[in-house]
Amino acid sequence: MSPGEWHQQAVIGEFVFAAITLVAVSLINAPYGRYQRPGWGPTMSARLGWVIMESPAVLVFAAIFLLGARTDQIMAWVLFGLWQIHYLNRTFVFPFRLAIRGKQVPVLIVAMAIVFNLLNAWVNAGWIGWFGDYPDQWVTDPRFLLGTMLFFLGMAINRWADSKLIALRRAGDGYQVPQGGLYHWVCCPNYLGEILIWLGWAVATWSWAGLAFAVYTIANLAPRALAHRRWYRETFPDFPADRKALIPHVL
Ligand code: NDP
Repeated sequence: MSPGEWHQQAVIGEFVFAAITLVAVSLINAPYGRYQRPGWGPTMSARLGWVIMESPAVLVFAAIFLLGARTDQIMAWVLFGLWQIHYLNRTFVFPFRLAIRGKQVPVLIVAMAIVFNLLNAWVNAGWIGWFGDYPDQWVTDPRFLLGTMLFFLGMAINRWADSKLIALRRAGDGYQVPQGGLYHWVCCPNYLGEILIWLGWAVATWSWAGLAFAVYTIANLAPRALAHRRWYRETFPDFPADRKALIPHVL
């Protein structure tokens, strides 16, 4: 098989991964955070786990991109920059802002995330660095402009929502009901923001590779948002009944 055929297979593989993830996380709450429980093998520091499992999304992504033939295209570098803005924060800043001192995560979760991030790095860096084609005119293409706007809107929502949870955790022990802004309508605006980021990426790159990651993110986070909503309702009797899980007024 040629590298291009390998890449196509990987993109298909990521759609399959998304389908398996959707079924798995709909049946079983991934055992980290509030669903952390014994029976999932050895554990490690949750903070270190975040850094290790997200590192391929920065480092392997960069290596694949730099080995490709598209490093002479400015727009490929712009897309590379978008990706890295998100993942440098997620990997090396966000874990150190979380109030999770002493918390653990199963090594299995970290290992599975590494496998996914390796696949995803090949799919997306392979696309923008090797097989895609983004001439200078892409900068004024409506798909790039709309996608980039969605990307940054999602990033603003995701960071605001995560910061709100971090502040809530620091303000008191344990879990509390988040209030204000988008939390008025949904339980998980951080997941909503994350999904908008990768939908924006899919539009800005106008690629099957980008779409595969957006679909995977929805498959992974929508069931978890629904589980969070059930958990909030069971844990807090006065939890607002009309607050949705992920999309205001819809889901
Ligand atoms: P959660 O919303 O479950 O938790 C985020 C942090 O806030 C955790 O430290 C959690 O503590 C704390 N927290 C959550 N709810 C409350 C509350 N009600 N009161 C006090 N503290 C609270 O998010 P995840 O950990 O699942 O995800 C973190 C980030 O990573 C998000 O931005 C998400 O979008 C992103 N992500 C992206 C994925 C993708 O597929 N692209 C996959 C998974 C995550 P604790 O850990 O103790 O529960």
